[in-house]
Amino acid sequence: MKNIAVIMAMDSEAKPLLEKLKINPDQAEKIDDHLPMKVYKTQYHQHNISIIISGECKRNKVQNVGTAPAVISTITAIKDFNADFIINAGTAGGFKKRGADIGKVYTVETTVFHDRRIPIPGYQDYGTYKSQHDIAKKFATLLGIETGIISTGDSLDMSPEDEKLIESNLALLKDMEAAAIAWVTDQYSIPTLFLKSVTDIVDGEHPTEEEFFANLKLASENLGEKLIELIELIEKI
Ligand code: SAH
Repeated sequence: MKNIAVIMAMDSEAKPLLEKLKINPDQAEKIDDHLPMKVYKTQYHQHNISIIISGECKRNKVQNVGTAPAVISTITAIKDFNADFIINAGTAGGFKKRGADIGKVYTVETTVFHDRRIPIPGYQDYGTYKSQHDIAKKFATLLGIETGIISTGDSLDMSPEDEKLIESNLALLKDMEAAAIAWVTDQYSIPTLFLKSVTDIVDGEHPTEEEFFANLKLASENLGEKLIELIELIEKI
């Protein structure tokens, strides 16, 4: 039995998972009176599961995507819910030149940042903070999916500077949370599995935000299916 925490950015990404676990989306707990994160707790396959979603921005009434809320969710999972296995599940942009396709779900072997450029000796590597996640390959095989490199930054669009770093790291996927979550779980040496479903093709012809919304439902459905399969496989590690 494990204490599994599933960290997710957006309500819509989590909807299919909640449905499959028969959790009412209106029955979330709060993690704190001040913080917007929502948590759903349940048991599945003898594991304690906490699903932590970043919640809504108090000021702007939109979902708290990005690295800062993801870090809070992760530290909460570890300190308040004693998580010993962390899953970051969400959507991502994909690069078709590396084989990505809309709705395809991947595990992640390497996380890296592309928007923390600090050209001072020693700080460069701290900025990019490349981390390896050895369990990704094993789970990719068990789930019958592929694994790849994800690059994280706090923007949905891609500046030319971001693009250079993403390219130099041969990233297959681009998101706004993974590397930040990896930084936290690295401090505590907690095994972390990233499961990412592609909503948009970054190097394609459609504007990212349009493609993102057009494919969010499909990508989240596929994500929910793989998440359930994954949780059912966890005792096999
Ligand atoms: N416009 C949306 C916000 C989407 S932000 C809204 O108003 O609700 C994008 C979310 O999906 C982030 O959590 C990020 O991790 C992921 N994502 C999907 N495609 C992405 C891309 N091309 N680049 C970066 N993040 C992406």
